[in-house]
Amino acid sequence: MPIDPTLPYDDNNIFARILRGEIPSRKVYEDDWAFAFEDINPQAEVHTLVIPKGRYVSWDDFSAKASDAEIGGFIRAVGEVARAKGLVEPGYRLLANIGAHGGQEVPHLHVHIFGGEPLGPMIA
Ligand code: 5GP
Repeated sequence: MPIDPTLPYDDNNIFARILRGEIPSRKVYEDDWAFAFEDINPQAEVHTLVIPKGRYVSWDDFSAKASDAEIGGFIRAVGEVARAKGLVEPGYRLLANIGAHGGQEVPHLHVHIFGGEPLGPMIA
């Protein structure tokens, strides 16, 4: 069920619980700003999720309310994960679903990193 992006942040959403270590995940990266882990239902050879450590429902919430340091740190972390996974050449795809029309399911901002194979024009 896609989320309602206007709802306040839910501290018990599944990614908040992964961040707190209450639910296991296959961690691939962590720094002061971000945490990255493998998607439980991969849609490509590489399918990694990167989430900010702050309490942000979506990209919209994050871009409106996060500090420049949080935004900079998060964007750098996404690039760092892609580099660490060796995806830069031949390339990869970033995706952030936002709200109902975007098909966002988990109400904590996450960027999907897809790669490891030719992805075609789009992953739905
Ligand atoms: P969205 O549709 O919100 O952009 O994507 C949510 C993603 O989270 C989906 O790709 C889904 O497979 C992944 N996901 C949902 N629950 C879990 C979980 O408990 N652990 C992990 N690692 N990924 C999850």
